Amino acid sequence: MLGVLLLLSPAFAWEHTGWYWPSESFPLAWYFDPDPLEDSLPLDADVQRAIIQTSWENWPEAAPCAGLSDEYQGDVNIESRDGDDLRSTFHWEDELDEQETGTLAVTYTTTNGRGTKTANGKVYFEVRDSDIVFNNDVDFGTTEDIGAGICNGESPVESVATHEIGHLLGLAHSCEDGAACTDLDLQEATMYWAASGCDLSGNTPNSDDITSINAVYGVFGSFEATTPRSGPAPLDVTFAITSEADVVSASWQFGDLTTGESVAPTADIITHTYEKSGSYSVSADIVLNDPICGTTTYPQTEIGYVLACTEPVPEAGADGFFQLQASDGLRWQVINRTDMGTYGCVDTIQWEVYEGSKVDPAKLVDFDGDGEGDPIGAFAPIIDFPAAGTYTVLMNVGGPGGLSAGSLTIDVVELGDGSTVAGCGTSTPITAAAASLAGLLAVRRRRS
Ligand SMILES: [Zn+2]
Repeated sequence: MLGVLLLLSPAFAWEHTGWYWPSESFPLAWYFDPDPLEDSLPLDADVQRAIIQTSWENWPEAAPCAGLSDEYQGDVNIESRDGDDLRSTFHWEDELDEQETGTLAVTYTTTNGRGTKTANGKVYFEVRDSDIVFNNDVDFGTTEDIGAGICNGESPVESVATHEIGHLLGLAHSCEDGAACTDLDLQEATMYWAASGCDLSGNTPNSDDITSINAVYGVFGSFEATTPRSGPAPLDVTFAITSEADVVSASWQFGDLTTGESVAPTADIITHTYEKSGSYSVSADIVLNDPICGTTTYPQTEIGYVLACTEPVPEAGADGFFQLQASDGLRWQVINRTDMGTYGCVDTIQWEVYEGSKVDPAKLVDFDGDGEGDPIGAFAPIIDFPAAGTYTVLMNVGGPGGLSAGSLTIDVVELGDGSTVAGCGTSTPITAAAASLAGLLAVRRRRS
């Protein structure tokens, strides 16, 4: 199982922070707190502001179908950022020197706690305020200077601002510091964790950045099951793709070593039958077409998405049926060998103990003396019989595959101290229908 999981590629290469701006927030209002950056060339406020404006525009230029826009609101002059003033402010320097050496800039975001968007199984919270602060202890260089070759290791301020605006919009790093990152597309992304001196490539979001921003704001497609994805095998599961764009086609990997293609006119839907018991991961490469965005492919993987189960078998195991072993006095230990091989396929086990040699609802043993029979919920309980005699022990085992039951009739004798005897009885597997007819206490699980 683990081996299979390791072979799967991650759902998406990029990451999101989990916050976003609802569509009514656009154009995004921003403020500017001008200051000279101590270690850099002195720039006047107009130049500083223009760099931020250009950095904003780098996103819609690269990803026109994301619908991004912004609007400068004016300057503010404050000592330190206020994360709750509902003003997204760019602080051109870190006036209180809060930032560590090596940090280029930081984006501080607060959300209003409303998770109003779900995409690809993840909840996104609405941004309330997002402030960006540049570290004044860094030597920054302008695009103009670096482009003209006037650079002695300075960090590219426009790239850094574009990266931080990516965070403000909800993008996380394409690769974190220390993470194994062999994909060049991720290393060259604007959202890569670090920026190299004298390198302007981060000014232009690359394909990884563009897919990432489109997944939050632009054209995007994702699938989900529209029929139950847990149930008895064989299990038919229908997967449907939702997108604002046209779904051109999709290539599917169903996780049971079979693949499929959905094509027009029903490219957005496919049904697959899971024949065998198992937990399955499902992947799709979804091809979309949009007049502005053109044709794009979005990959999606859902781990352990489908659970198909055969009916649980209470008597599985090397020695056949479950057994009872006398331990002391009237105390007996249940030995249960139910097959738990597919995780999730057995989710309920319940025992009922009846006086006599058959399942008789009127004779369910009342262990706690409250006048009502007591089923026992445990995998392999210890049963304290109330007296010597003949008993029938019924086991109910249930899961997405259904309910089944088996019974065992035993003669309980009181044992002396320390002596034990093996359970002597006859075992009779009975069908679920028989169990529920015989005892109304049989466990039933319904699944939608
Ligand atoms: Zn960052």
